[in-house]
Amino acid sequence: MKSAIWPAVALMVLADGAFAGEKRQSDAHEHGHGTFQMVIEDDHAVIEIAVPAFDVIGFEHAPSTSAQRDVLAKAAASLSRPDILFAVPAAAECAIGRIEIGFGATGGDHDDHDGHDDHDDHKDHDDHADKDGHKDHDDHEEAGETHSEVTASYHLACAHTEALDRIEFGYFEAFPAAEELDVVILSAAGQSAGDVDRNKTVFRIE
Ligand SMILES: [Zn+2]
Repeated sequence: MKSAIWPAVALMVLADGAFAGEKRQSDAHEHGHGTFQMVIEDDHAVIEIAVPAFDVIGFEHAPSTSAQRDVLAKAAASLSRPDILFAVPAAAECAIGRIEIGFGATGGDHDDHDGHDDHDDHKDHDDHADKDGHKDHDDHEEAGETHSEVTASYHLACAHTEALDRIEFGYFEAFPAAEELDVVILSAAGQSAGDVDRNKTVFRIE
């Protein structure tokens, strides 16, 4: 019966197979830990998540092998199922609208998307001879390690938003590397915040 509740899925996967430019520098994230936000209004809700790419695909660089591309495709397919990842009560009668999934870049190759000039801030790299010949890749992280995030947003049209009193997170079963999500729910009733993890997969909206 769930398919009757979730009739129209309009999926837009950004950066199909390739990494798009990251919206912001994601150097502060901790692997295993992501954020989940849902804003509930009269007849709809919008979910937005931001999680380390590590949590959903196990690596944080553009895929370079067919195996990695396969992992990315499977993750995109999983991410396109909010009814599994973030299940809301059937009584709310929510239909999935637009879904957007973005895989963040890990630096270097996508300057045209950035909108901020990270590389120009680190001219000092040019002052000493570059021994390994790929100086650009080290700009973001002191250890030369890059990070990237996966962001996704889900628009739900709900006949009964008042029935949105809990969210069941199948997310952790779908993504074994994920450990925790910080949860914030915003609605006319106020704000509900907390977290969910592998042992506590149900969040009750107060
Ligand atoms: Zn990372």
